[in-house]
Amino acid sequence: MKIKEIYPNLFLYTFPNQYELASTFIRLQEFYESPYKQIRGKYFTLEKFMDLYAKDQKDNKFTYFSDWNGFNVPGNIVYNFEDKFCQDFTDKEIKLLSPIGDLYKKNFYIIGVIKEGKDTIEHEIAHGLYYLNEDYKSEMSRIINNMPKIMKKMAEKYLLDNGYCKSVLKDELQAYFATGISRNMICIWHYIIFKSYILKIKHVCKKYYEEFENA
Ligand SMILES: [Zn+2]
Repeated sequence: MKIKEIYPNLFLYTFPNQYELASTFIRLQEFYESPYKQIRGKYFTLEKFMDLYAKDQKDNKFTYFSDWNGFNVPGNIVYNFEDKFCQDFTDKEIKLLSPIGDLYKKNFYIIGVIKEGKDTIEHEIAHGLYYLNEDYKSEMSRIINNMPKIMKKMAEKYLLDNGYCKSVLKDELQAYFATGISRNMICIWHYIIFKSYILKIKHVCKKYYEEFENA
């Protein structure tokens, strides 16, 4: 696992493989945005979450470690997580969280990806910008608020069906549209008709990140 500050206060954790990544982030990520009410924002054991997740999968298989390959958590959630889970951190959580003491900044954001997962890194960076940069957030919000309802509804339904909770929908919309939508997110006809909105979002994301990279 490597840590790098890739944008002011945005910390990128890179893992050698998907298992290491997902098994490290699992409780922190679910604490932040689990679709399960009994999990999100609450203390829970790994076993409790695993049972709930498996129940909803085909043949009750626990597929989390191959379902997810990018993770993103805002700093304030990290601190809440530390408070609630410190009595039984896993070894992996300790490795994940212990550098944060030194990285301490008032407002920070962490993202976790697998080495060489370029698309995922861009998606997670979009989340980081949305949290850390107010101008970015308001530009994105404006575009999303002006999107045709049908387009937004379709994309939101896709996100809800795929395990995202309501409170992060706008953030996920901008991150998906900025860096590559999933095939089933909106239908091809709507994609063609409403492409200008997606291009606007992509443009904003690129602009902010390049500004930083070239600074
Ligand atoms: Zn996302």
